[in-house]
Amino acid sequence: MSGSLVVAGLGPGADSLITPEVVQSLADATDVLGYKPYVERIAPREGLKLHPSDNREELARARAGLQIASSGGRAVIVSSGDPGVFAMAAAVFEVLADAPEWQQLDIRVLPGITAMLAAAARIGAPLGHDFCAINLSDNLKPWPLIERRLRLAAEAGFAIALYNPRSASRPAGFARALEILKEAGAGGRLVVFARAVTTPHEHIEVHTLQEARADLADMRTIVIVCNAETRRVGRWLYAPRQVS
Ligand code: SAH
Repeated sequence: MSGSLVVAGLGPGADSLITPEVVQSLADATDVLGYKPYVERIAPREGLKLHPSDNREELARARAGLQIASSGGRAVIVSSGDPGVFAMAAAVFEVLADAPEWQQLDIRVLPGITAMLAAAARIGAPLGHDFCAINLSDNLKPWPLIERRLRLAAEAGFAIALYNPRSASRPAGFARALEILKEAGAGGRLVVFARAVTTPHEHIEVHTLQEARADLADMRTIVIVCNAETRRVGRWLYAPRQVS
């Protein structure tokens, strides 16, 4: 039987938010590969080999998945949320670009619910108008580029979803990001700090950017900087559909 590689999104946390096609691909898999906490979400069963690895090993993991597929296995590489959003799908294609011998393999990317959408739904509709997403990790891009994108996004009036806001290895970056957004005139905007959305540890707070503290975010938090028009209605927030 010929092999396959599926790159699948597990959604933000709750099992009910894993799509039926991802559930099916996991049921058919011979091998599941991924960052350890994500692989731990997969129930072990006979005939399934789990391959947990560290979070800086994306290319090696992608190569291992392609290798399994080329040997006839049914490999699934799992990401949290959506696999195409700051996650494994791009790493698989980076490896594929240099590996013509694997380009005819059966490869599928299965979408998942990305963190910003799960967080937005919890609080109302803060992404109801134009928005963008920025990864605050400077592992794979220079910090000055992040600063430039933050400034331009704020000036352009986008709501901004910030992924990977703050980690132990770069504690100062997020505080600096908040400063840049204030300098760009966004101080009066509402900011949603949504932690571990759809898990038992979910916690959501809303502050104005002016009042926001950097320690409200960690690596399990997605931060949504709302646009200037965003309003409160009861316990909800929404970005009006019309902007003049
Ligand atoms: N592919 C993932 C993102 C991976 S980057 C997706 O589509 O969601 C990891 C970052 O995603 C975290 O640092 C955090 O900012 C965000 N994130 C992932 N799951 C989350 C959750 N359940 N609640 C809040 N933020 C989450």
